[in-house]
Amino acid sequence: MLVEAIAKSESILPVYFFDPRHFDQLSFHQSSVLRTNFLLESVAQLRQSFQKLGGDLLIIHGLPEDHIADLVEQYSISEVYHHREVAPAETRVSANVEDRLWKIEVNLKHFIGHTLYNKEDLPFPIKDIPDVFTQFRKKTERDAIVKSCFDAPEAISFVPDVEWGQLPSLADLYAGQCPVIEDGAVRLRGGEQEGLQHLADLLRPDSSIYIKVSTRNSDPSGYISELSPWLSLGCLSPRMVYWTIKAAEERYGNNPNFTNLLLGLFKRDYFRFMFKKHGASYLENTVSKEDTTPDSSFEQWKRGETGNVQVDAYMKLLADTGYLPSYGRVLAATFLVHVIKTDWMKGAAYFEAQLVDYTASSNWGNWKFIADSVSGMKSKNGFDVDKYLKILNIPAVA
Ligand SMILES: Cc1cc2nc3c(=O)[nH]c(=O)nc-3n(C[C@H](O)[C@H](O)[C@H](O)COP(=O)(O)OP(=O)(O)OC[C@H]3O[C@@H](n4cnc5c(N)ncnc54)[C@H](O)[C@@H]3O)c2cc1C
Repeated sequence: MLVEAIAKSESILPVYFFDPRHFDQLSFHQSSVLRTNFLLESVAQLRQSFQKLGGDLLIIHGLPEDHIADLVEQYSISEVYHHREVAPAETRVSANVEDRLWKIEVNLKHFIGHTLYNKEDLPFPIKDIPDVFTQFRKKTERDAIVKSCFDAPEAISFVPDVEWGQLPSLADLYAGQCPVIEDGAVRLRGGEQEGLQHLADLLRPDSSIYIKVSTRNSDPSGYISELSPWLSLGCLSPRMVYWTIKAAEERYGNNPNFTNLLLGLFKRDYFRFMFKKHGASYLENTVSKEDTTPDSSFEQWKRGETGNVQVDAYMKLLADTGYLPSYGRVLAATFLVHVIKTDWMKGAAYFEAQLVDYTASSNWGNWKFIADSVSGMKSKNGFDVDKYLKILNIPAVA
């Protein structure tokens, strides 16, 4: 998006909106203080990158819909570019912005820059994307190529005479009601540099990623990269991660941990493309039919007081750090949906608020998948959690 904006214009005005809907404690789409902290660090670094090129990033604390038309008029902007998300709440914001711009006859150009594969490069039209992940992956891997990365721009011409604005503090964003970040809760720092460093550390020859996993049962989780927060915000692009892993593979040989990481990137694309294919109906097709449980059970699950030792440990870890390894997410979600029998959407909304790596398509897509599946784990007495735990061989929280 940036490369095209630079190529097609005399000058550009980069802008980031801190949308108040994400910081309102009563909002369905609120962000935890840990995620907001990661976001602030990431935006600060993006700003520094623009500053190094003699420009800046315009910071606005407000709704994009309320400000975009004024900005266009004030700075004589001819076209607006943005990265489009795929889930309903986000596409609604895009549509609102598009409406405002339409009224002043300015085009909003959509980019989908968060995926490994461009949608045009997939071996099928969006409407024919296989709904089964393994088919999607097999065909895509066989028939499509992952494009190479763009070089970072070395020079940018910025719109002159702009009041660039201050980065808000956590207290500004939460209107003085900012929860305290506990000591030790922040393990991963936001921003491109930290993401690049994390990836480089991961792929160093002495990193544990080179320990080979011999059988699925010896370590069901595979390798945990913890790359998701940077991928989620766009500090690292999936394409760059892909090519960096491929280079490491070339150098040090293949191992199951590389394969697992690449598998994750395919899953990420799959959920995004599922939303692209089905739109809002992707989620609407999965309704909780059995939600007769009292709210107190849901609250106990959130607090990590269900009585299941593993679920409780993972739920506390989530609240304390904003992060869970994949198997912890699967376990906690499965327990809520199939044992407590609570509406999966309530669980997905809670994860949305808590996860530092929250990504609409990955979160809601995985929750939907769990709500739809696992029927094979049912015995005649209902969902068999012990059998399920045994099959997954889920490790205890360290
Ligand atoms: C209920 C539930 C909710 C989830 N919510 C999110 C979310 O909001 N954001 C998010 O990024 N992931 C989500 N995931 C997917 C997955 O659990 C995380 O991506 C993963 O745990 C992140 O840790 P990692 O970076 O160490 O992953 P790794 O195993 O090292 O994988 C590498 C990368 O691949 C991607 N990836 C891996 N598994 C998946 C998957 N199942 N679906 C989509 N992408 C995947 C991630 O970007 C990840 O960083 C969710 C999974 C479940 C079961």
